[in-house]
Amino acid sequence: MINSISVLGSTGSVGTQTLDVASRLGIPVRAISGNRSIELLEEQARRFRPEFVSVFDEEAAKRLKIALADTEVKVGGGMSALTDCACGYADCVVTAVSGSVGLTPTLAAIDAGRRIALANKETLVCAGEIVMKRARDKGAEIVPVDSEHSAIFQCLEAQGRESAVRRLLLTGSGGPFRGKTRGETKDVTPAMAVAHPNWKMGAKISVDSATMMNKGLEFIEAMHLFSVRPDEIKVIIHPESVIHSMVEFADGCVLAQLGVPDMRLPIQYALTYPARRANDTPAPDFAALSKLSFFDPDPEKMPCLMLAMDCAVRGGTAAAVMSAANECAVDLFLQEKLGFNSIFDIVSDAVGKIALPGTPSLEILQDADSEARHFVTDNYRKY
Ligand code: MG
Repeated sequence: MINSISVLGSTGSVGTQTLDVASRLGIPVRAISGNRSIELLEEQARRFRPEFVSVFDEEAAKRLKIALADTEVKVGGGMSALTDCACGYADCVVTAVSGSVGLTPTLAAIDAGRRIALANKETLVCAGEIVMKRARDKGAEIVPVDSEHSAIFQCLEAQGRESAVRRLLLTGSGGPFRGKTRGETKDVTPAMAVAHPNWKMGAKISVDSATMMNKGLEFIEAMHLFSVRPDEIKVIIHPESVIHSMVEFADGCVLAQLGVPDMRLPIQYALTYPARRANDTPAPDFAALSKLSFFDPDPEKMPCLMLAMDCAVRGGTAAAVMSAANECAVDLFLQEKLGFNSIFDIVSDAVGKIALPGTPSLEILQDADSEARHFVTDNYRKY
């Protein structure tokens, strides 16, 4: 178990739940970071008394510094402060920022030998091979927070790492528009897309769940985290979100991890691993549930998932381009500047026009990321 944490993205959904878990477990919070929600950051700073608060927006950082002038809390701005927050203060960093902005601080935390409680899937989607190799070289632990990956991690831990794995079975609820055709989702608004039936999450990941891009990102995340090939991962639609994912071993036996859909469970496990600590979360009420259902994904109705699986096979910069274009497209959708179905259209075109094969360096991946964002901002009006 770790002694203290820093939280990147402490004002987001996973970030606030992480602070909640840390306070219940009595784990000190040494550093926190946000983008520009300085009122909430001030409240968190006064409550948790971290040594350091990082604010990505430099102007907002100046305002927070003034607001916290009566305390001992230090405040910094920009990417360098985010990186300091990741590696300078605690032995575990929870990376709960959204998007590929998490890549640089995550690599810095790996270099510093921190445990990474990884809640930022875009980091592995953009540069999974580089991040995982760096972690192996530095001996840094990466413990997943994403519920599906936490489930797979727990199943593998329970069985012993040497066991022959046949496949990872990645479950997903199917999101709020499961079974809907493209014609039926064309008028979906941001408010409709962020209302997820089972999970309470931030705006970006809620939209990704609605398009099924989230499952696609998780597919690529799983491939890197567990060193498996794309053909060794199977996506299964499981609307009740009680089984969080499974591992199928070589003898045909399957281990699953079950729990109520509450992000505080995988967050807590990432902080207490390899131990389990008591809490007041109930187990699923199986009699009340009465049945669990499973379906194969329908490729026609889940084009973003299919695109992500295709990018996983293509390799090179494809996944980095897809993820960055998607971040940008989701942002435009939330501002009502891009239609729901156009998210897939523009992301798919970005991959088709920009993605390169090969084994890209970190620099090439970061260039691909920014080229994809430019492609979307320059072209979205045509969609
Ligand atoms: Mg997930």
